Amino acid sequence: MLTDRFSRIHDYLRISLTETCNLRCSYCMPEEFPQTSFHQSKRMTADEIKQLAEIFIELGVKKIRLTGGEPLVRKDARQIIQQLSGFTDYEKNHDPVRLAITTNGIFVHDFIDDFKKANIRSVNVSLDTLIPERFEKITKRDYFHRVVSNIHLLLQNHFHVKVNVVVMNGVNDDELVDFVQMTRDFPLHIRFIEFMPFDGNQWKKEKVFSYREMLERIGSFYEVVPIENEKHDTAKKFKVLGFEGTFAVISTMSAPFCSDCNRLRLTADGKMKNCLFSKEETDLLSPLRRGEDVKQLIIGCLQRKHASLGGQFSPTDLPSESHPVENRSMIAIGG
Ligand code: SAM
Ligand code: SF4
Repeated sequence: MLTDRFSRIHDYLRISLTETCNLRCSYCMPEEFPQTSFHQSKRMTADEIKQLAEIFIELGVKKIRLTGGEPLVRKDARQIIQQLSGFTDYEKNHDPVRLAITTNGIFVHDFIDDFKKANIRSVNVSLDTLIPERFEKITKRDYFHRVVSNIHLLLQNHFHVKVNVVVMNGVNDDELVDFVQMTRDFPLHIRFIEFMPFDGNQWKKEKVFSYREMLERIGSFYEVVPIENEKHDTAKKFKVLGFEGTFAVISTMSAPFCSDCNRLRLTADGKMKNCLFSKEETDLLSPLRRGEDVKQLIIGCLQRKHASLGGQFSPTDLPSESHPVENRSMIAIGG
């Protein structure tokens, strides 16, 4: 089992497949971000992703989420999903892994059957606004209708669908109630995410719309009831009485969930991060290519994990801008 200095068991790995994307969300991809910030030869191949995933599984990982950048823009995304699906097979594995994906939804219609074959049951789709013009402003691309229709396609195909909404003060905080309204007739799970600081994303303390503010706003329209959280949940969950779906808040900035964290991250260039906000990265890909033992590197990296937020800030001591927080940009980490 992968246990850190604070007795937290880590059994959830998020693998970034790429740091490229077909959207340009202002809060994620810096304006000057190059198409690929590292040479393609430094990116994990499909086989290397499978090898590293297997090592993490041997160490106790039970859930893998594919992310990015946009995971589905990778030309071999289908092959990667298919290879990892071997670990999800209930008949072949005594302890099968749960496979999930976070996507911007643009290519979902091409992958529905691949998700089904790979036992992917849960898909997170990002959508920050229900206003087409605003979508274009935030993402700098015109894919609003495609994303919305792909969310409905996932629902029609009985996937568990979570919609990730990054809430930014003065940008889309006026749409909270409209998103919750969507859960009236659809079994959708909306997750409002507090805006987080990363390299080059123009984060400012004043742009954070906090968990409390969100609940106040939604609570003034609806009768909201809390739902019991599952272990390791990073979202505080709620429901409007009588509605089909639920909503939740990921309150990383105002009330983080670090004491129960079970997450590890692998960037597309094969670096392990023990926290979304860790300054430190441990290169696993180069030693893997040299045929060296990677397990001890993983265990060592986890032992250096900080108690909370990579040891970089705390809710009572937020920086006013993102630059004192040392990190990659979100697109290069894998959210
Ligand atoms: N391209 C995929 C997508 O958009 O869902 C996967 C990668 S994206 C980096 C993963 C998640 O991180 C998305 O839900 C996105 O909204 C979220 N995210 C990106 N930048 C963020 C920020 N600055 N604060 C909070 N969440 C952020
Ligand atoms: Fe791309 Fe997702 Fe980042 Fe938007 S949030 S730029 S879709 S990786």
